[in-house]
Amino acid sequence: QAKDLGGNAHKAYEPALHALAEERRQLEVSLRAALEKKEFVLHYQPVVDAGTEGVVSFEALVRWNSKEHGFVSPAKFIPLAEDTRLIVPIGEWVLNEACREAMNWPEHVRIAVNVSGEQLLGTDFSASVVAALAATGLPAHRLEIEVTESIFLRDATKAHKELEKILALGCGIALDDFGTGYSSLGYLRKVRFSTIKVDRSFVQGAAAGNPESLAIIRAVVAMADSLEMSTTAEGAETEREVEMIRELGCRKIQGYFFGRPMAAGDAKALFSSRHYLARQQVA
Ligand code: C2E
Ligand code: MG
Ligand code: MG
Ligand code: MG
Repeated sequence: QAKDLGGNAHKAYEPALHALAEERRQLEVSLRAALEKKEFVLHYQPVVDAGTEGVVSFEALVRWNSKEHGFVSPAKFIPLAEDTRLIVPIGEWVLNEACREAMNWPEHVRIAVNVSGEQLLGTDFSASVVAALAATGLPAHRLEIEVTESIFLRDATKAHKELEKILALGCGIALDDFGTGYSSLGYLRKVRFSTIKVDRSFVQGAAAGNPESLAIIRAVVAMADSLEMSTTAEGAETEREVEMIRELGCRKIQGYFFGRPMAAGDAKALFSSRHYLARQQVA
């Protein structure tokens, strides 16, 4: 009986599953050709100092405009790129492009680059960083590498080793999406992160009056302060959220309220706007 039901269910789902697999296969074919076809661009989202509201860095966020599929969200193609290891050449391109673009900004502005586990653990990543800095002339301290907690689950020993090498170069390391993974405090003791990024879900939860989110942000800020790490609140969209984050003591803020991810030209233009110059004087 159970077997019959299973069999029927299987038949009913088969076309849908097949369509999904087919869509994914086609996406993969296009993704393989995307670098060569120059279909990727980087957008840059400002991160501001919570006190002065001056721009302290930009996060590079990759965008894919596919000839066949139109705009594809990173939430969709980054996991596919990771599964197929295409993230390695794509990530390499992102790293170089981001460092090159940052050379157009004032010297105190840093660039943050997201790095996937496969890139960090499956390649000689620190050698790629050395090469990108050498090729672009960007000073190491202006580059911050963003990693997520998942790298420690995969291979904690190798992750520590690679992060140590990157720190030794003088780059910063940010712990992205903090609190969403299998958080363990062990690695906070072992790696000198420059920044802990509090995930958007906590920021929005706290603003919506969720006491658990609020308590978690408080705890993360207190912990980061005593470990001499900075904190960035992700995903602040409203003035209310910004006010709350400030009161909680996060040092930096990133979110639509201060700026969406923008094209390179718009990011660069920020630095010559009167608004920006006025803010920098205050800072
Ligand atoms: P992430 O590193 O946590 O980046 C922040 C994401 O939150 C970005 O989404 C950004 O557009 C979005 N965001 C920022 N402020 C707000 C806000 O106020 N409200 C809302 N609703 N969203 C906000 P995006 O660009 O779609 O990227 C998604 C994820 O894809 C990134 O999350 C990162 O994990 C990954 N990703 C993006 N670019 C790269 C890359 O070059 N390499 C790798 N490995 N991953 C990347
Ligand atoms: Mg990030
Ligand atoms: Mg993040
Ligand atoms: Mg996030």
